[in-house]
Amino acid sequence: MQSGNSVKESLDALAKKWDIDPKLYDMQVGLRDDVIDNQVNVGGVVFHVPMLSRDSLYILWKCLWPDCHNCCERQGRLPLTKDDIALLTKKLGYDSKVEFVKQEARISSWQEQEAFGSIITTLSMLSLKRKKDEREEEDGTPLRCRFLDDKGYCGIHPDKPGVCWLYPFASWLESDRHGKPVVHATFQFTGDCPGFYLDKSLDNIMPVLQEYAQKIYSYNMAVQRTTRENYGFINFVSG
Ligand code: SF4
Ligand code: SF4
Repeated sequence: MQSGNSVKESLDALAKKWDIDPKLYDMQVGLRDDVIDNQVNVGGVVFHVPMLSRDSLYILWKCLWPDCHNCCERQGRLPLTKDDIALLTKKLGYDSKVEFVKQEARISSWQEQEAFGSIITTLSMLSLKRKKDEREEEDGTPLRCRFLDDKGYCGIHPDKPGVCWLYPFASWLESDRHGKPVVHATFQFTGDCPGFYLDKSLDNIMPVLQEYAQKIYSYNMAVQRTTRENYGFINFVSG
């Protein structure tokens, strides 16, 4: 979770290079009190798409890569699922997962809060070091990822960690009224992404949600397998 102030600092830095709509700026720094949650079920994932109700405008997103690679310039944390560990062990040329973890990963812990509710999730997972000598106290602080090249390409694509495929979505599992787990997703507003825009309808984002539903669903299943097999831990706390 990022505080309002650090989001503001990130947005101010972003605004030096990109035009940020004043309404979107205010919303991200917490100055709008009319943000409402719209739920759209796409491909088995419940997307929470915020709306500025006074303006009747949805907050939508599209990625501006390759003109932008700010999320890789200001990477906060790269948690690894069990699948990521297997892929990256091979990609980075290690003979064993143990050796990969020893050299390339560290343990990180953080809290996530569900977008429009009170469920706080504490997660601990192995994370890929974003720089070779990454230290514990740098967990969650923005760093330029060592795999990003000068042209904005990722040196370990397509074997990059699952979490890199999802930004700027955040996702979580919630039980429905029959006790069945359902995947939910929403945007995380860290102040680092210039791809948000306002629109009167959801039409323009539907293809994006369709594309991301599959990735988000698979990622949540991979996180579940990871914690089930004790590669990481999740605790749910209702606040
Ligand atoms: S910061 Fe946003 S727009 Fe830029 S590359 Fe990342 S997701 Fe795309
Ligand atoms: S691993 Fe690749 S996609 Fe992920 S943050 Fe690093 S450069 Fe970006």
